[in-house]
Amino acid sequence: MNFATSNKALKKVVKDWRGCTKCPLHLTRHEMVFYRGEAPCDVLFIGDVPSKQDGIYGEPFIDNAGKLLDQWIDDAEQEIITDLQPLHFLGISIGICNILACKPPELNSKVRPPSKEEAASCSRRLIDTISAANPKVIVLLGSVAKKYHKIPAHLENIPVVELQHPAHVLRQGGIGSYAYDSNLLKLVEALETHLYGQKEEVVSVKKQSTSSKKTTRNKVVQSTDQAAKVRIDPQGARKPSGTKKGQRDQSRKRSR
Ligand code: SF4
Repeated sequence: MNFATSNKALKKVVKDWRGCTKCPLHLTRHEMVFYRGEAPCDVLFIGDVPSKQDGIYGEPFIDNAGKLLDQWIDDAEQEIITDLQPLHFLGISIGICNILACKPPELNSKVRPPSKEEAASCSRRLIDTISAANPKVIVLLGSVAKKYHKIPAHLENIPVVELQHPAHVLRQGGIGSYAYDSNLLKLVEALETHLYGQKEEVVSVKKQSTSSKKTTRNKVVQSTDQAAKVRIDPQGARKPSGTKKGQRDQSRKRSR
């Protein structure tokens, strides 16, 4: 089942926009690409356009760049657990979408960026998607998302963080590279500041929704068993490769 159909507000977005013909991309798309993850969510990641693979399967960030993004999120969560050990950490809910819901054609075997007109045509769909996700933090992935994103008026005061696009980070060496670690550091610090600055509030909200997170987080954390382990025993939680505390400290030093 597509994740977008598991939430009432997102279901309405899909219903309202499925079959959209507002821009010429409807003529070349295979599947529309709406959303992946939980809704509502703590953190909404916004990328640029669906990749070739995303456009075939109808889910955002399921290609190699998506795998890197999932690892980033997983590593950020592990880093936060390390930093906030006294807090009974219960996980971060994540949503992922793009500026466009339909894949643009390829140029020289690369999916081309959106035109200004295409981004404008799809902006209402993006605003509806963000409203349905109702995030506490928005993360913009890359310069296209930075240039064309639109935020609903009622959410315009929430924090917006800018990271490089995972596809760019892959080209810079991927997991374990300086680009990976420096973006990870930025993500961790933003989430600690904006999500866990009010620890008591976060804990009380999370306690009410733990069971739903166990089923919906499996796109980000590889299995619910792992998720349970993270929640119950942060001391013993696995440490992902490429983001050890020492490396993060190195990154901190490099970024000064
Ligand atoms: S990219 Fe957006 S505006 Fe264009 S056809 Fe797809 S959903 Fe409609």
